[in-house]
Amino acid sequence: MNKVVAIGAGIGGACICIFFVILTACLSVLNFFNTDTTNSDIEDEYVKNNSKYSNLYLPVVSKNIKNNDGYVTLSRIVKLYNENTSFSFAEIYSDNLDKINKQMKPLDEVCDMKKYNNISLCNNINEQDNNLSSKPFSKPIDFSKVTVTSYFMQERIVYGKSDVHGAWDLAASNGTPVYAVCDGIIEVSSFKYLSNSIDKNGGYGNYIKLRCDVPSATYYVIYGHLYPNSSKVKKGMNVSQGKQIASVGTTGYSTGPHLHFEVQTNDKKKVDGMNLINFNT
Ligand SMILES: [Zn+2]
Repeated sequence: MNKVVAIGAGIGGACICIFFVILTACLSVLNFFNTDTTNSDIEDEYVKNNSKYSNLYLPVVSKNIKNNDGYVTLSRIVKLYNENTSFSFAEIYSDNLDKINKQMKPLDEVCDMKKYNNISLCNNINEQDNNLSSKPFSKPIDFSKVTVTSYFMQERIVYGKSDVHGAWDLAASNGTPVYAVCDGIIEVSSFKYLSNSIDKNGGYGNYIKLRCDVPSATYYVIYGHLYPNSSKVKKGMNVSQGKQIASVGTTGYSTGPHLHFEVQTNDKKKVDGMNLINFNT
């Protein structure tokens, strides 16, 4: 009899063990133990593994840019969203917009809002200034005519290959004018593509590189995928801010008509061009 009980207990114990092994495996697959630490990996200009936010962020940033309301970075939104996922991206975007200056509010101002002042992020504010004097550019294109299809440092798949996109893609109709964002000098005006078609082995396609010497720094602005023969400038030419330099096309490594708007510093580091635009100009 004791033997039977012992065997029964042994089988029962083994069953319980197997159950927990299977349960643990299932919960791990479902990430119940939250071993994913990538959420907290946010730099000022870059949210690592950000592709999971693209569907939430793109429509919101696109709508606000189209309406000329101003730009709020993904990193700011994700920082707040991670504190309370019941806030929507649209709500956080709006809360972070200074509607008069049409730019992102300093974080301490956002933390003054009642709904945010209990969150841990607000206890430890250490952020660079985001003031208007650091926004030397005007718009590269009429934003009311664009849809944002890719934001700065978006992780995405293009033609089956994964890529981190160090620029903005602003979809617009073929022929939409593009403008000089500063008083600057044309470094490159390259218009080798004579037909407005995609080249999967190409890069920027027809492109213009504009040098901007603004008080804070020197920037190089690249306008990519431009329409054949649309250049209104030549290498070495001085252009004034707001002047049309070319038109939107879809030449080079492109999936449809859009402006690839890329900004580099003097040492070739790609920076967030949208963050350099004064929406009130
Ligand atoms: Zn692009």
